[in-house]
Amino acid sequence: MQQDLVICEQCDAVHRWRPLQPREVAQCSRCGAVLARGHRLGAHALLALTVAALLVLLIANLTPVVDMRLRGVHNSATLPGAIHDTWLQGERLVASAAAFTAIVAPGLLITLRLLVLVPLARGRAPGHLAWCMRVLHEMSRWSMVEVMMVAAAVCIVRIASMAQAVPGPGMFAFGALALLLAALESGGLKHLWMQAP
Ligand SMILES: [Zn+2]
Repeated sequence: MQQDLVICEQCDAVHRWRPLQPREVAQCSRCGAVLARGHRLGAHALLALTVAALLVLLIANLTPVVDMRLRGVHNSATLPGAIHDTWLQGERLVASAAAFTAIVAPGLLITLRLLVLVPLARGRAPGHLAWCMRVLHEMSRWSMVEVMMVAAAVCIVRIASMAQAVPGPGMFAFGALALLLAALESGGLKHLWMQAP
């Protein structure tokens, strides 16, 4: 694919690409679909947001996500701990889905973004850039972030209800993580790709 061409995902019309100004919206001239949005954030700002998302992901996994009250004994569990217990109780599908949507997928998404943004923030475009951009593009095309966060919420609530638990700080960190990932997703990476040297 040529870098200065962009293909409409709705009608396959091909357009010549040019970098967008902040708040500018590129629309398909044939079907009116939104091709891309200009974003106020540059590589450094997106990198800062991504690092924040990484820290929030760590907090979400290391602090108690549920506060369990079982037979009068208070016991708090981190998400990995709660997933482990859920697995041991035989709810393996819920445990696997929770592990994937709440830990593996966000971790992968953040890692890919860091692999793209760290070199771009330093003004370089390394060889792995195209590959990472392609995977990120596929993930955004299938609304991975939205699907992932909804699935994670369902799994966490299910785990919490099984353990007769109340939400702990980790639960709120997951809420913050969902917001951060959505903000990053709305920013897109296309405009950065076009600025790459
Ligand atoms: Zn179109």
